[in-house]
Amino acid sequence: MLSVIKTAQDLATHRRNQGEVGFVATMGNLHSGHISLLKAAFKDFDHVYFSIFVNPTQFGPNEDFHKYPRTLENDVALIEDCLKAHPQKSVTVFAPLNVNEIYPADFKLQISIQDLNKILEGEIRPTHFDGVTTVVYRLFSLIKPSKSYFGLKDFQQYTIIKKMVKDMLLNIEIVGMPIIRETSGLALSSRNQYLSNEQKETALILFNTLTEIKNIIAESRENLPAAQKYIAEKLKDKNWDYLTIRETETLSENLDGKKSLVILSVYRQGQTRLLDNMQMDLK
Ligand code: AMP
Repeated sequence: MLSVIKTAQDLATHRRNQGEVGFVATMGNLHSGHISLLKAAFKDFDHVYFSIFVNPTQFGPNEDFHKYPRTLENDVALIEDCLKAHPQKSVTVFAPLNVNEIYPADFKLQISIQDLNKILEGEIRPTHFDGVTTVVYRLFSLIKPSKSYFGLKDFQQYTIIKKMVKDMLLNIEIVGMPIIRETSGLALSSRNQYLSNEQKETALILFNTLTEIKNIIAESRENLPAAQKYIAEKLKDKNWDYLTIRETETLSENLDGKKSLVILSVYRQGQTRLLDNMQMDLK
């Protein structure tokens, strides 16, 4: 069963008398990456909430908020398709009619996860993560999920949301889900449609470079200097916003004694910034 709800008030009424639910937050323009989160939620819950909201506060002044693809009808059709394979499940799509449903005129809250919100993506997009944490907190408050599913594609976002939940003592489990890729290796993203065919080809540099770095490291700390040297060489191409090896909890560059690592990267193709990352463990 599928319901589409457009106001916060209807959502509150709908949510009453339901038990535990899972939750997936998106900005819509759905692809198999988003649907993989829904399927994961179906494994844990009979009822899943799925938000579709292009959140203005996570876009900077010169970013693509106005041109971000809004395809609600198509999105709902994709969710319906997925439900066909899970006939015993139900989904509530929360697609706010307008921004006031999330941010009423007198709204004053801002949630910031210090330090993590200012590095990497946060260095380039200084207000982005405060917008993300604030909207996700707001959605959590409305939906009250037991578990919420996030793609590891946005690794820093996942790290920050986990930290928010920990620091605010929210009783919500954050589940990180694997990156869904095209067969070429390109990570699925709503922003891929901004790319020309030629740019899409060039975009494979992300997956190929991350794979190469992972192969150089080959689970051994001894190989980290060789990987850093390879990265320094790659960074001569100024289309990289960053390409860096971090430890997974704090995203610190200090890898001493750390076993769980992630290579984080952004490569620019024209106006479009493509994110990708790859996790690895050292032996
Ligand atoms: P977005 O609508 O782009 O804000 O993404 C909503 C959720 O879907 C976030 O948790 C993303 O990390 C996740 N997501 C986006 N693309 C992918 C992908 N290719 N694989 C897995 N999860 C994804």
